Amino acid sequence: MTINFQKNISLKPYNTLGISVLAKHFVKVDNAEQLPQALNYATLHRLDVLVLGGGSNIVLTQDFQGLVIYLNNQGFESETFGDEVLVTASAGQNWHQFILRCLAQGFYGLENLALIPGNVGAAPIQNIGAYGVEIKDVFHSLTGWHRGKKQWQTLHKAQCEFGYRDSIFKKTLKDQFIITEVSFMLSRKPNTILTYKELADYLQERHITNPTPYQLAESVISIRSKKLPAPHVLPNAGSFFKNPVVDKKLFDQLVEKYPDIVYYTENSNFYKLAAGWLLEKAGWKGREKGLLSMHKKQALVMVNRGGTGAEVLEFAIEIQADIARKFSVKLEIEPRLY
Ligand code: FAD
Ligand code: NAP
Repeated sequence: MTINFQKNISLKPYNTLGISVLAKHFVKVDNAEQLPQALNYATLHRLDVLVLGGGSNIVLTQDFQGLVIYLNNQGFESETFGDEVLVTASAGQNWHQFILRCLAQGFYGLENLALIPGNVGAAPIQNIGAYGVEIKDVFHSLTGWHRGKKQWQTLHKAQCEFGYRDSIFKKTLKDQFIITEVSFMLSRKPNTILTYKELADYLQERHITNPTPYQLAESVISIRSKKLPAPHVLPNAGSFFKNPVVDKKLFDQLVEKYPDIVYYTENSNFYKLAAGWLLEKAGWKGREKGLLSMHKKQALVMVNRGGTGAEVLEFAIEIQADIARKFSVKLEIEPRLY
């Protein structure tokens, strides 16, 4: 099975911020078995590797001199165990399309995660989460290529060390493990999770007390569509900064100064602050700098109308400095920088 290595390919269509940089080497992998061949090419030519899914959680700050491996495998399998079903999807599948496919087959559990951009393979990397659910809640296992060991491996849930927007793939296995398929244990019986206030309120306003999984997914899609800009219309990378977690001492000072601060208690010593609130309070909502802006409906989302990766970074640094000055809080960039 031969694969087509290309040179000097524009990555603009491959990242949701729409940043225009080149990949010196590029290969599309339609089948997991082609992966070792792609990696051999990188080793032979001494190239760094960047594995690309939907490009919705990256900032490309310069041309990539190595090999971009664009994963495009598309398999979907299921095996039923009573009321449960083990669903396995290939990494290259679009995440939202995967959820719709599960829904159509009566496999439930991923509804709250509808409309998150990107592909299945990247979902475990930051344990994607939204509206009260994280993938770890229904995750079963994944398979991929361990680059150091040069072998295929299957990792189960406990081995993935999932945390808040975090996993082993951001820590010890960073750049070491290429995920080629992910399995979820879903339910054949609806089990709707309505713990997230905005979602519960949305349903209550419409007098829907016991939503079907379809109604739940539709509600999430509707809420997201109203607030978050679709990347194909306004290029963005979702939440640009992580919600910062601060200790009690700083938290107490902030609450005294800003009684309306939005926060969530992690435990008696730590508090998660809504980064969007900090940005809005500091006046960043809707603010523009050149071709960049912080979205007018959600201050946490940076929108790019043609700026370069370097400009994105410069804007982010200016915002971080302002937030540090005003609140003594360090905002961390969520997408990975290249
Ligand atoms: P990419 O951006 O292509 O890659 C991200 C990182 O993972 C890169 O370092 C890449 O090298 C690596 N990678 C990708 N695929 C693989 C693989 N198969 N094996 C190994 N490494 C790989 N995130 C949330 O958690 N919740 C949300 O609600 C949410 N909403 C968003 C809304 C918008 C409008 C946008 C633009 C983004 C949002 N995100 C959200 C962030 C993003 O969608 C997720 O992080 C998503 O999982 C990224 O997938 P991707 O395929 O685009 O990854
Ligand atoms: P939001 O509803 O305005 O809430 C702001 C922040 O408050 C969220 O980040 C959320 O944290 C937190 N929050 C709300 N209710 C909470 C609770 N009961 N307990 C703990 N934390 C709570 O957020 P939004 O921007 O519209 O996003 C809606 C959902 O989609 C959120 O879950 C968000 O994470 C997700 N999202 C993520 C991205 C991304 O790129 N990472 C982009 C868009 C949306 P959590 O982040 O922990 O949920």
